[in-house]
Amino acid sequence: MSFRTDGSIFIFSSPSGAGKTTIVKLVSKKKNFITSVSHTTRKPRSNEVDGKDYYFVTKRKFQELINKKEFLEYAKVFNNLYGTVKKPVFKNLSAGKNVLFDIDWQGSKQIKTQNIDFNIFSFFVLPPSRKVLYERLSNRDMKDKLIVSERMKEFYSDIKHWVDYDYVVINDDLNRCFKEISKIIDNVILSKKVIFDKLTIKKHINKLIS
Ligand code: 5GP
Repeated sequence: MSFRTDGSIFIFSSPSGAGKTTIVKLVSKKKNFITSVSHTTRKPRSNEVDGKDYYFVTKRKFQELINKKEFLEYAKVFNNLYGTVKKPVFKNLSAGKNVLFDIDWQGSKQIKTQNIDFNIFSFFVLPPSRKVLYERLSNRDMKDKLIVSERMKEFYSDIKHWVDYDYVVINDDLNRCFKEISKIIDNVILSKKVIFDKLTIKKHINKLIS
């Protein structure tokens, strides 16, 4: 008898500032997980390292990758382009690694509609409140007030996409949230069904957008 040893795709999306990147970093420490490093035309923040956080490229280089059909998915987010190159993803999945994606809802949709021959599990991370979200965005390296207000505006349209995800979690406390995600992941890897409390999430969303 042969066992399938392929890895799975784990997608994480959220409105900007919900703490998803920190969560993805924690999940990447789990055994057999690796994070997909995206390409972007955005300028690096002071704490970001090229090749680790992103591959920071010019618009021209990004367009070249589009033309060569190298991307599994790509999208324009906040006036910058972001994309995932196919090759390393499939190499890792075929080698049995679980691949983590920190991407927006557009990229998630593109991956899900491609009939990929690997399991896909998607997570949507919510902030505990609009106040916390605003504080998180303001405390970032980008102190620019305009960027913060742009991202707050985007929040209302981004959050609508929670319905397209398998699991929705609230990042009220990083450790608690990570534990919840970790438990879900451990279960789905063992093909155990996981049910999340949709009603609580709906109530939380209503509070966030009211
Ligand atoms: P940031 O500029 O704050 O690092 O990321 C902005 C948004 O772009 C985040 O929601 C992040 O998840 C998303 N993003 C990062 N990489 C990719 C990617 O390769 N594809 C897509 N579609 N979105 C991405």
